Amino acid sequence: MGKNSNPKIYGVLGYPVKHSFSPAMHNAAFSALKINAKYKSFEVKLDQLKDFFAKMAEKNIYGLNITIPYKEKILDFVSPDKGSDYLKELKAVNTVARQEGIWKGFNTDVAGFSQHLKEIFAPSGKKVAILGAGGAARAVAYALAESAVSEIDIFDIDANKVKDLALVIKKLFLNFQINAVNNIAGLKIKDKDLLINATPVGLKESDFCLVNEEMLHKNLLVYDLIYNPPETKLLALARHIGARTANGLSMLLYQGMLSFKIWTGQDAPQEVMWKALQGELNARNSN
Ligand code: NAP
Repeated sequence: MGKNSNPKIYGVLGYPVKHSFSPAMHNAAFSALKINAKYKSFEVKLDQLKDFFAKMAEKNIYGLNITIPYKEKILDFVSPDKGSDYLKELKAVNTVARQEGIWKGFNTDVAGFSQHLKEIFAPSGKKVAILGAGGAARAVAYALAESAVSEIDIFDIDANKVKDLALVIKKLFLNFQINAVNNIAGLKIKDKDLLINATPVGLKESDFCLVNEEMLHKNLLVYDLIYNPPETKLLALARHIGARTANGLSMLLYQGMLSFKIWTGQDAPQEVMWKALQGELNARNSN
């Protein structure tokens, strides 16, 4: 591609999207590999979504990450890639790519989460509690079932969402034990090896902690999908009682690297992307 040709456009689509670290991460990667491309933020309201999609080619858009609240809705506009047929059931697409003129949907949260989890924990045969049953929890529950954890208990304030997710996972993984529970006590965290927060609770300084000290134990791994703040109240509490902790920054990196590979066909520059994420974290927390 010539120096002066129009850059290919990529971006994160959601509402809101200001919180996203993805522009910093992907622009650093494009720049390091000298790819003529730009990654933008597309904050689009639901009633403008159809129009946005109609104009994607005109805007030179080749790929998107999808965030709150469109990970399911996006299936009105894209078809799952042929290697990702399960997304028709799971209904959680976080990456789209224009391939041979057709828009295809992928989920890189699943493999991104799995990759990081397996670096720090051996999931097979383990018991898991999940807080939240939204878009991220759908990817996480799928990844855990695929990794052969023995059991998942899951809670969300929206009882319908949690029941639906349990049903979908049971459909995709026959005989898999996943239970929708009615309250946090029902998660029986004391009996679990891994606790995952897939709710947005903890993003804001004013947020309360979803669990109390008595519910936890020191042999747990507590994994919060939130990456800013890097230590939520939940993670601080877990650390205080001697449990292991992980935040969502490595998952963000790995899902981003997988999206990058889908879009460009090139291996993503891990160190460059990780440095960009750290830089973004410092910049956002220095004011
Ligand atoms: P989402 O689709 O809005 O799902 C969040 C779910 O949590 C919703 O079902 C919500 O219910 C529920 N919830 C809210 N408050 C709750 C409470 N007090 N108790 C139980 N459930 C509650 O959001 P998402 O896309 O799944 O994202 C969830 C979090 O994961 C966000 O903080 C996001 O930043 C993070 N995330 C991180 C990564 C990463 O790469 N690290 C990737 C994706 C997401 P209502 O809808 O009824 O409020």
